[in-house]
Amino acid sequence: MGEFELIRRFFQPLSADPDCGQVLLGIGDDCAIQRLPAGQDLVFSVDTMVEGVHFPAGYRPDFLAWRALAAAASDLAAMGAAPVCFTLALTLPEAGEPWLQAFARGLASASAAFGLSLAGGDTTRGPLTLTLQVHGTVPSDCAIRRTGARAGDLICVSGTLGDAGAALDYLDESGPTDDMLAVLERYHHPEPRLAAGQALRAVATAAIDISDGLLADLGHLLAASGVGARVEVPELPLSAPLRRLKGLEAAGYALHSGDDYELCVTVAPESWARAPESLKALFTVIGEIEPEPGLRLSGAAQAQAQTGAGFDHFRRSS
Ligand code: ADP
Ligand code: MG
Repeated sequence: MGEFELIRRFFQPLSADPDCGQVLLGIGDDCAIQRLPAGQDLVFSVDTMVEGVHFPAGYRPDFLAWRALAAAASDLAAMGAAPVCFTLALTLPEAGEPWLQAFARGLASASAAFGLSLAGGDTTRGPLTLTLQVHGTVPSDCAIRRTGARAGDLICVSGTLGDAGAALDYLDESGPTDDMLAVLERYHHPEPRLAAGQALRAVATAAIDISDGLLADLGHLLAASGVGARVEVPELPLSAPLRRLKGLEAAGYALHSGDDYELCVTVAPESWARAPESLKALFTVIGEIEPEPGLRLSGAAQAQAQTGAGFDHFRRSS
């Protein structure tokens, strides 16, 4: 199968419908065309995933496609952007049909789930690598940045943390339990918080998505904003499966492990009090922004979380 047949068979069907939305021209020409509505800013980001570095060698292609698009879409969510379209640069060792079929199936379901149409890409031969560029929009000057956190703001995280990181311990499990399957699902099919991100535009002072672990990503937000924080370890939202699987170590996973793609946002207490209940229900307040730089953990689990004992399996290769 040649490059052009491959594109026509597997990727053309995912191309944007030119009759609706902002993508005037999708796959098939030298460039795609996106028309920005008046008063909107284009928000875009690119991410690369390399086999053996960002995902395990031999990883299921449909899961790979979902995870790659979810990770990219999560950056849009963190900025409060509405998803529009994406491009895919795909480097493949060989044009294996079953692999491509499964990959395109996973990509189609993620594309539909996140509202991101495929607008173009590039196809080359080499070690398996995916680069996705995502495009979204926000009303002009309304994107949520990392720089806006102020002392006194509440720190809130969406969903539960640590599940995807715990799943790494069970990827090769031959007879996974229901709890293992629950955390594995979080690793294989992360859900970018796109709707929550957009709802936070009018509420949050700063936001970041948690791809590398709460402490690492909150650390980036704090550094960008020039502030510090106190995090109450006992307040961390932990799923029931994670608690049962990891016991006292669960909070450590929530602090240190990545791949959850939840949002970490800062909000002035007055704004949080006025925020829609549907938004508040999704988030847990885990601490507060402080003027003094640095990140301080408090609560009963503090000592254990900070020792790092047994945390070697959290270390990522990237
Ligand atoms: P060019 O040589 O002009 O860059 P290509 O031959 O690389 O064009 O690609 C032809 C068309 O197919 C372009 O519209 C491009 O965006 C699209 N395309 C190529 N590879 C992919 C892919 N993996 N996914 C989606 N679209 C692709
Ligand atoms: Mg090209």
